[in-house]
Amino acid sequence: MFEQIAQSIPYQHISVGGINISIKRLDLVHPYISGNKFFKLKYNLLTAQKQGYKKLLTFGGAYSNHIAATAYAAQLFGFESLGIIRGEELASKALNTTLNTAQQFGMQLQFVTREAYRQKQSLGYLAQLQQDYPDYYVIPEGGTNSLAIQGCQEILNKQDCENFDLICCAVGTGGTITGLIEASHPQQQVLGFSALKGDFLAREIQQLTHKTNWKITDQYCCGGYAKTTPELLQFIRTFEHQHQIPLEQIYTGKMLLGLTDLIQQGTFPKDHRILVIHSGGLQGRLAAL
Ligand SMILES: *Cc1c(COP(=O)(O)O)cnc(C)c1O
Repeated sequence: MFEQIAQSIPYQHISVGGINISIKRLDLVHPYISGNKFFKLKYNLLTAQKQGYKKLLTFGGAYSNHIAATAYAAQLFGFESLGIIRGEELASKALNTTLNTAQQFGMQLQFVTREAYRQKQSLGYLAQLQQDYPDYYVIPEGGTNSLAIQGCQEILNKQDCENFDLICCAVGTGGTITGLIEASHPQQQVLGFSALKGDFLAREIQQLTHKTNWKITDQYCCGGYAKTTPELLQFIRTFEHQHQIPLEQIYTGKMLLGLTDLIQQGTFPKDHRILVIHSGGLQGRLAAL
């Protein structure tokens, strides 16, 4: 099933500022478990299955596409799932679309304080978790671990590595871009548009790959994770209208805003062959966009 999906991803070709861009539409793989999350989960689910686990546990914020995708994939593969969600105050509020989607796919949600959530990678917390949930297979926040990176390498096929000079993607935790970097040809450049402010991501990715043909910019993060600007929202509306490709405001909108700006600044030669990974995330698209 995973193989079938990887082979059937369509490309769409558009022109931006006189440069031809190919968009790999991972958003079309599925309306919920869209795009990159599917590749990130692949080897985690196969491993959990092989090791005999029946339940999955993972972490996320209220807008985490990873939470929604894990809920869906867990149900599809017959796992029970538990999501540990940042923000105790959310427990008493109506669920947003992302969390509602997760719950509909059978995920049990547990809300924890921001302080508790911050501990999620500490050894003490993980040991406690292991004690509290001994029969759960634990997937880290955003789904990023070495199995996720292995899965994300499969986003690129042979042609993608031969036919393009530049590969662009949106960056959250850095798992997806690390897979793309690992799979890329050394003469290709991989450019990541961060959805978050800060340069800590570049340092983390340096720990995960020895290759150097990549760069990350946070110049188009619009103030930070899940933040938006009127300019971003207007860009998304115009882009969707022009190209009939849906975007959302957390990841893919910021990536294409950034790429369009770089093209308009004359950053790339006119014959530059650019591949854009549309990673999906459309279940989190603002309805009022
Ligand atoms: C999660 C997500 C990303 C970021 O992936 P990372 O591996 O966390 O960097 C990009 N785009 C979309 C639509 C996502 O849901």
